[in-house]
Amino acid sequence: MGFISLKFFGFDFEKNEKKMIIMLSTLKPIDMQSNFILNVPGENLHDNNIAFTVKKLIHLFIEEFGFLVENEKHKLGRHKTYETEELLGLIILGAINNKNSCRKLEEWIKNNDETCAYILNNKKPHKSTINRFYNKNGLVIELLFDYTVELGEKAGLIGFKLVTIDGSILKANASKNKLIRIEELNYLENIIGNFHKIENGENILFKIQKYFLGNILDESNEKIIKEIKNNLKKEGIKLLTKLLWNFDEKNAVLKAIDILKRNYDGKHTISVTDPECRWMPDKKGVMGLNYNYQVASDDKYDFIVGQKVVNDATDHNQLIPMIETVRMNLSKHPDFYVADNGFLTTKAVEYIFKHNIKAIMPDRDESSKIKGIDESKKFKKSNFEYNWVNDTYICPEKKILEYQNNRKMSNGINRVYSTDECKSCDVLEKCTKGSKREISHLAHPLRIKMREDYHSDFGREQYQKRFHTGESYFGTLRYGRNFRGIRRVSIKKVQTELTIQPIVHNIKILHKHINKW
Ligand code: SF4
Repeated sequence: MGFISLKFFGFDFEKNEKKMIIMLSTLKPIDMQSNFILNVPGENLHDNNIAFTVKKLIHLFIEEFGFLVENEKHKLGRHKTYETEELLGLIILGAINNKNSCRKLEEWIKNNDETCAYILNNKKPHKSTINRFYNKNGLVIELLFDYTVELGEKAGLIGFKLVTIDGSILKANASKNKLIRIEELNYLENIIGNFHKIENGENILFKIQKYFLGNILDESNEKIIKEIKNNLKKEGIKLLTKLLWNFDEKNAVLKAIDILKRNYDGKHTISVTDPECRWMPDKKGVMGLNYNYQVASDDKYDFIVGQKVVNDATDHNQLIPMIETVRMNLSKHPDFYVADNGFLTTKAVEYIFKHNIKAIMPDRDESSKIKGIDESKKFKKSNFEYNWVNDTYICPEKKILEYQNNRKMSNGINRVYSTDECKSCDVLEKCTKGSKREISHLAHPLRIKMREDYHSDFGREQYQKRFHTGESYFGTLRYGRNFRGIRRVSIKKVQTELTIQPIVHNIKILHKHINKW
């Protein structure tokens, strides 16, 4: 076709064979050409290809929420080539195909994948364009997630019977070698504040500069350099030298110190790579720099109806915000919420009853039982079975501990249970250091009601569903979508990155169940 056109424009191939060979030899292989174009992208795709669903859904979303979206093409200044619809479509379709990084997306585009050409209208954005779009459109991506939930509800894909709330600890993109202690930050702030103090005719800044910039260590600066080395480790010294090299950076360094200090959790070192992540144990109990990702899923088709990234090491404070997130995304509460014992607090239980919400949560002891009895810890409280009908406990030796009284303890008023049978028990010493074993639980009436609800046949049946609903999403994320940890830094960007995944999850369900868009 190229030859015909050239002849048409007066180029005679036979006469100019040599020229033509040189021209052809300079052409790049097809996969390296940046302007290789499919005339009608999408024409070779099967009608059921998910790319059609993605494009249509994003088109509908932009039509409805376009006023919130800053359109790349319509901004003032340099002419922008890409529409929000195109780049958003690329990111979602890429995630469906396990292409989650900007580099992988760029490689994918270069390979002339037809779904990719279809979604991008044959355009070929550079990875820096994709990255810029990603960083600037966190809110749009979160809105798109809410929009998938809205579509799921309209399509009848949300059952409103049971919503499971669960959290998972995900590895942050933070180096364990780049840490700083709060004491170092305080010292840095202090020393920067004293830079212009004069000591023996020289200011402190000059003395420090002499060593770090001029490699001079003499009587005049020996003391202060020793003090700095005693108080600062690698990352602290880095911050200090950054300032010494360019004093214009003073405000930037002070701001960095302030951000790091604000992210001190009161106990651990702070990550310099991502100050907003936290030291927290993962599922296996291994401490690491992580984020806590909360997900709420409806049990009808496992549709994700709420999600949030937090840097709280535990789930204690997450039930109320997650219930509120779900309620905001759906037109009503589901019949029941289910969550594990990590979410159970008196505050959460009071909120549930006050708002007439139904929830099923086991207490800590029940949850341990579900995970299996540890024989090496036979006499732990979790191995004492509570009989909620008789309000008694049965010990590992099958003796019945009856309710004795209410007693004030550090966590509030507790109901206390014991038996006189302990006195003649052969394993008394293994079971307790006292003359008889006492078991107690919080006497809060709503906590007792929550216990009763969980112990009912219906409650147990509903709770069991949690294992296939809530936990299956994290399984799919890790093993199905090859998710190997967070790539971005700062909680806001991590939230954007993780929101892509439930969008993909929901779009797949929508694609499967909606025949016509
Ligand atoms: S000491 Fe008491 S509570 Fe413990 S195993 Fe023996 S009878 Fe049961």
